[in-house]
Amino acid sequence: MAAPLRLISRLAVVTGGGSGIGRAVCQRFAAEGASVVVADISEGSANQTLESLPQGHRGQEHMALGVDVSSKDSVEKLVTSIQCRYFQPPSVCVSAAGITLDEFLLKMEEKDFDRVIQVNLKGTYLLTQAVSKALVASGSTKGSIITVGSIVGKVGNIGQVNYSASKAGVEGLTRTAAKELSSRFGIRCNCVLPGFITTPMTDKVPEKVLSKVTSMIPLGRMGEPSEVADVCAFLASDDSRYITGVSIEVAGGLFIG
Ligand code: NAD
Repeated sequence: MAAPLRLISRLAVVTGGGSGIGRAVCQRFAAEGASVVVADISEGSANQTLESLPQGHRGQEHMALGVDVSSKDSVEKLVTSIQCRYFQPPSVCVSAAGITLDEFLLKMEEKDFDRVIQVNLKGTYLLTQAVSKALVASGSTKGSIITVGSIVGKVGNIGQVNYSASKAGVEGLTRTAAKELSSRFGIRCNCVLPGFITTPMTDKVPEKVLSKVTSMIPLGRMGEPSEVADVCAFLASDDSRYITGVSIEVAGGLFIG
């Protein structure tokens, strides 16, 4: 079935666009007519995503840019580069860049705790702030900020004290941003909470753990990046115009209730 065309004339930036969920989001947004800026710390991966993007809808023009979301300077340069190229800020912003550095609490090193918080939580803050500031300064009255948390931020996960804390933080950040930005500036802010999705990130999880988790998923399988991208496209589009400050689980029913 062809994708609907809900994002014609929209400009979107997607961090972590070089792989997994971020790449699928870029592809889905482009298929729905958006111009997409693929942003990733790996410029090579971002360029690979760029090459895979469908083109040909009205005014559509994609680009790839390097960014380290944990650096304020780098995130500000990203937003400035986008505005120089398109003469407007992105009205859709997806923070999908993320990392894991797993270890048990009793063995977790401070540097690994800090790094995961810097990329997953501070990176989401930096991009959300930079894009929101640019939208407000441009006089825009409409935007959609989409953050990527995790089911693990709600329920915790053995070996992920840093990651689960970062993702719980992303949800709190998103709800606060929604309260500050929705009515005053028309910027909706929502969070997607993937469960276990087949990407390079979960490739690192031992097979034994994955099969145990899969047996707990009511829908009986891991998710696909495209299934998270479908929800992001809904949140980016006007189909979700009365939705802000929510978290949507995309987890096949894992940990219902
Ligand atoms: P992935 O490893 O396939 O992709 C992550 C991307 O982020 C990579 O391209 C990487 O280069 C980029 N990245 C890492 N550090 C960066 C930085 N400092 N600046 C910019 N880019 C950076 O992982 P994924 O599974 O696609 O994960 C995407 C998002 O979804 C992450 O936030 C992750 O925490 C979240 N998530 C994934 C799952 C899952 O099961 N895969 C579940 C819940 C949440």
